[in-house]
Amino acid sequence: MSNIEQTLSIIKPDAVERNLVEEIKNIFIKKELNIKESKKIQITKDEAAEFYKVHQSKPFYNDLCSYLSSGPIVVMILEGEDAIITNRKLMGATNPKEAEDNTIRKLYGISIDKNSVHGSDSIINAKKEIEFFFKN
Ligand code: UDP
Ligand code: MG
Repeated sequence: MSNIEQTLSIIKPDAVERNLVEEIKNIFIKKELNIKESKKIQITKDEAAEFYKVHQSKPFYNDLCSYLSSGPIVVMILEGEDAIITNRKLMGATNPKEAEDNTIRKLYGISIDKNSVHGSDSIINAKKEIEFFFKN
């Protein structure tokens, strides 16, 4: 049975800065993750802190929020079959050093913090994250 989902993807500052947006978008399109919405924005540190609230107790939280707000990002709604897990598989492991071959993080990630992309990890978080960036 078909299971069409939507998920939120972010191309992080390190990848936008290196002009990798079109290359990364093509990886999604080839895997039939359709880009329903896309916008290039820069968020404030407070907005990043709200977005990454789930990590607020982690030692890397402050740096993570500074980093996500440090430059332009591209936020997208991806839609397709099992979009949430399909996107997570395409992204690869959080640490690019541990990511599988041909994943986005293996191809383009610089380090565990500059790992080029974000992707929602569950149906509930996908809904929340899409609303965060695309509420009207
Ligand atoms: N992160 C970090 N240091 C760590 C773990 C995570 O800087 O030790 C950053 C990394 O950029 C990651 C983000 O925090 O993408 C969110 O962490 P999560 O565990 O949710 O990884 P993801 O879902 O992005 O794979
Ligand atoms: Mg996560």
